[in-house]
Amino acid sequence: MKDSTLALHWGYEKDRQKAMQVPIYMTTAYEYDSTEHAARLFNLEIEGNIYTRIGNPTTKVFEKRIAALERGTEALATSSGMAAIFYSLSNLVQTGDNIIISNKLYGGSITLSTHTLNRLGIKARFFDVHNPEELNDLIDDKTKAILIESVSNPALAVPDFEGISKVAKERGIILICDNTIATPYGVKPIELGCDVVVHSASKYIVGNGSAIGGVIVEGKSAKEKLLTYRYPQFNEPDESYHGLVYNEKFDAPFIARARLALLRDFGAVMSPFNAWLMILGLEHLHLRIKAHSENALEIAKFLKSQKDIKKVNYPFLEDNENYVYAKKYLKYTGGIVSFVVENFERAKNIANSLKIFSLVTNIGDSKSIVTHPASTTHQQLSKEELIKAGVDEGLIRLSIGLEDVDDLIDDLKKALSD
Ligand SMILES: *Cc1c(COP(=O)(O)O)cnc(C)c1O
Repeated sequence: MKDSTLALHWGYEKDRQKAMQVPIYMTTAYEYDSTEHAARLFNLEIEGNIYTRIGNPTTKVFEKRIAALERGTEALATSSGMAAIFYSLSNLVQTGDNIIISNKLYGGSITLSTHTLNRLGIKARFFDVHNPEELNDLIDDKTKAILIESVSNPALAVPDFEGISKVAKERGIILICDNTIATPYGVKPIELGCDVVVHSASKYIVGNGSAIGGVIVEGKSAKEKLLTYRYPQFNEPDESYHGLVYNEKFDAPFIARARLALLRDFGAVMSPFNAWLMILGLEHLHLRIKAHSENALEIAKFLKSQKDIKKVNYPFLEDNENYVYAKKYLKYTGGIVSFVVENFERAKNIANSLKIFSLVTNIGDSKSIVTHPASTTHQQLSKEELIKAGVDEGLIRLSIGLEDVDDLIDDLKKALSD
């Protein structure tokens, strides 16, 4: 089946009620047939519903659909994108380990890596996604993960997927790709050698700014890497499950451990209601991402024609430093366009003058949004970290919505002339 068909049908079997839309199983727990049945479920001898923190039938449909769209084996929904990223990393590391992250990541992923994980004794090392050779010098025996974004937020860097995945494969390190902005219709990172894909489903997946959620998808290649000495937690008995060995029991051990150990213990589970909203979002993601991308390219071209704009970032602009990678790997780059004006004050004035664009810290809504990262999403970063993340103080990020593009351009024209 093709993607749009999968997104509408995959993973849902109608029950006796024959409901066309996936029902919302708003339930905390599920009845067991007997204490013996319960014991077998808890001991993972049989599959079935136990408790919604570990799994839910509505959420399962969302997980199956996103796994299919990303060409993964299994998926796990989480309460937010940050929870998905935290679980993906903490599934691999322990105190004393290190991770290698792109120097152009979402602000939350940078603070997670450099502050919160750092306090747990996990060090982050930075690399340039256009210079995969840097990885070879950074990798050591304690390196457990490489984290990149397929289109980075807000710098819009598109990685050299082939170069990075080649090193990750040679060295046996799990490569995680945050595919929030490109979505599986823009690129399928697993097909380009990534082992794990994460999303903030709060953005294009839900598509209308109505709910927070995240998801982790495991690719087939993850298991080969998890079978090595680098990842003992997948090869040694887990005493909290009577000696279960994840690599022995599961075809998708990464998701199995994230669900059975991390969701069990940390509990950042997606609400079944939110999973249902994500299912609705996935139904027309293919139409929306195309429309967002078309509008965004027109706006990028308009901004480019304006004299007092220092720089316009959109990977599909031919003079953009990401163009070769975008052309090679991406079908769509999503609706994010950023541009740099003279200084902090000018950026603030433009952001404040826009009328159709709302001043909001979000992306991927059907309505257009303007963000000034230096005063909001990236405010907690130091000047040095801002430069590293590719965030100029005069940078304005636009998330182009589904309004008529002429109205959006008019709004920008007025704000720029204020
Ligand atoms: C928003 C975002 C996140 C965080 O997701 P939440 O759902 O807000 O927790 C992570 N990565 C990227 C690229 C994002 O845009």
